[in-house]
Amino acid sequence: MVGGDNGGMRWLRFVVTGLALLAAAPRLGAQFQLRFDPERNLWSIENSVAGAVFQLTPEGTFELRSLTNKTSDDVWTPPPGVRCSPIRFRLEDAVFDENTAYRLVRQSSGASVRRSYRHVIELADLGGIGRILVELEMYEKQPVLRYRVRFQNLRPQTVRLLAADMLAWSFDDRGKTFRSFHVNQWVRGGSLGNFEPITRTLNPNGAPVSLFTGAYGQHCTWLALRDEEDRGLFAGWEFDGRANASARRLESASRLDLSASIQELNRPLAPNATFQVPAAFLGVFRGDWDEAGFRTQRFAEAALTRQLPGGDFPWVIWDSWKYQTGLHEVTLRHNAEIAASLGVEVFVIDLGWARQIGDWREDPAKFPSGLRALSDYVHSLGMKFGLHLPLAEAMKTAPVLRANPDWTSTESYGYFDAESLCLSHRPVRDWIVGEITRLVDDNQVDWILQDGENMVKRCTKTTHTHDPRDSNYSNAVDGLNAVVNAMLTRRPNVHWENCEDGGNMMTFNMVRNYVTSIAADDSGPMTTRQAIYGITYPFPPRYSDRYMGDEQLDTYITRSYLFGGPWILMNRLVQMRDEDLDLLKSEIALFKSFRNRIRDGRVFHLTARPAENRIDAIQSYHEETDTAIAFVFRPQAAAAFYRARLKGLKREGNYRVRFQEDRRLLTMTGAQIMDAGIRVDLSSMWMAEIIYVEPAAQAGGTGG
Ligand SMILES: [Zn+2]
Repeated sequence: MVGGDNGGMRWLRFVVTGLALLAAAPRLGAQFQLRFDPERNLWSIENSVAGAVFQLTPEGTFELRSLTNKTSDDVWTPPPGVRCSPIRFRLEDAVFDENTAYRLVRQSSGASVRRSYRHVIELADLGGIGRILVELEMYEKQPVLRYRVRFQNLRPQTVRLLAADMLAWSFDDRGKTFRSFHVNQWVRGGSLGNFEPITRTLNPNGAPVSLFTGAYGQHCTWLALRDEEDRGLFAGWEFDGRANASARRLESASRLDLSASIQELNRPLAPNATFQVPAAFLGVFRGDWDEAGFRTQRFAEAALTRQLPGGDFPWVIWDSWKYQTGLHEVTLRHNAEIAASLGVEVFVIDLGWARQIGDWREDPAKFPSGLRALSDYVHSLGMKFGLHLPLAEAMKTAPVLRANPDWTSTESYGYFDAESLCLSHRPVRDWIVGEITRLVDDNQVDWILQDGENMVKRCTKTTHTHDPRDSNYSNAVDGLNAVVNAMLTRRPNVHWENCEDGGNMMTFNMVRNYVTSIAADDSGPMTTRQAIYGITYPFPPRYSDRYMGDEQLDTYITRSYLFGGPWILMNRLVQMRDEDLDLLKSEIALFKSFRNRIRDGRVFHLTARPAENRIDAIQSYHEETDTAIAFVFRPQAAAAFYRARLKGLKREGNYRVRFQEDRRLLTMTGAQIMDAGIRVDLSSMWMAEIIYVEPAAQAGGTGG
């Protein structure tokens, strides 16, 4: 049960909704408990693994009472004498936070989408400024509280929101030392960031660990913390615009404070209009950073991510970028024929198919038969058809900017010499949604490779429909998100890949709109493995696609691209040697044989981040089948063998161990594999091995 606040008789279980729900879905009803105590204005939300309690106190403040990890009995409470509330935002002349007094207007509880339950708590401040809606929700088996705060302006005039915090939490540090963990994005072509994990010990004197997140920012919108006993918290925020996040510890006050504030918020809110602070989530875990990542990933797939585009995903994709913009339909047809014969599932035409950036009609010199004819041909070969689209860029000479020179954002980001467009200016948004709809329908497009440079542009123009001071929030929510959401509504079977010259908008809002995301852009094996290493802490494996440009192949190269989301080939298939195509074909079959298990599995980072002078290894454990797969790479490392101590297996289990290269067949217990490890021989440099671990009974074919 939950903390010391469980008063038994004094709790009022939500009866009507609960009974209706139990009738509809008894299995769900059994594990969730939503309760409201009207005497003490106390809300409890709880599933099988975690729970949280909030209160509207007699003083009128709305506060967290406790957050509990039920699997480890860890209870997180606010610091002594300190209030903690998820409400924290500021108007020009009023602050709404843990010290504000509210009254309860109404509240309700019930089931929601994707096996979740939620409390909806409607508060009003005592001065009659506004109404605050707090939504608290939990999902089946996920040790995570997801929440959002809305504010409705009840004044007769427009007010301005000047600050909002998506992560307004304070906890008692219990006198423990804390470490923090966060991950870079892909920044400036990888030169300033390639998903490096960053671990810090929180300074006990309050100096913060700071994150700069969102489009064109430095870090992914994710943060994990754990104390010396491995009691941990993780948090993510669902905002594509830029935000400043931090974690700090003040030992003298026993405080651990979190924050994630929207940058440069300056949002006008008309009478009765509502502002939504972007949703965020806070989870509990006990263990290491892999555990924090795993809990985050399972929650994201359960609660947030765009639905899988098919049962067998991630797909194998071919992309035309190795031809740069020198495209022609004849070459593309030849590539399509070979791609289909290799087992490629999506055929994507990258930059260069259009007359110019921003003029989204095919170039008739490159496509004399028309783009639709190529699309039809690709479909006739059994593949899906994809198009590259930097939707927020246009050349000065494109018809759209000749006709509307003012549609650019104040700042341009130099995407192949294009100007940047302001998507939060309504005419721009309407135009691009119309263009994408036309493109999709005319060419039967199945897949959109969204690209560009900084998807949340900066624009302070006074001539646009957005407020000139509201660039960041507006370009994220009213701009990019509005465009993509409009398309997902209009054409739900068209799937989107997130890319901005690499993964530079790695947010938990992004995963709601896109089925995958690029990690490193157009990089070699080492840079790619480094990217995959870091990105697979916060994000589910399918949000880590990899672009391989190599044309002379060996298994060290190909296997550097097999772990994670879609495998995207950029090589010019028509000029590759037969032996390379043969290898590619068998490696594609190999990728397909384990892609779903890696997608649904738990990632273990067995070594430090890949580097040229050492062996690196990454593992996936798939709980349903009790199988593991691990990739081991020897770059220019001196060591010729590696002892792979895999993780997550059942200690008493009997497993068969086999390899992709080595002919040994081993039978080992889980304990042996995890403690002593599996010896992996890597006789030469630039070698890659794959280890498969399967239950021995299953491997023996006895069907047990
Ligand atoms: Zn603008």
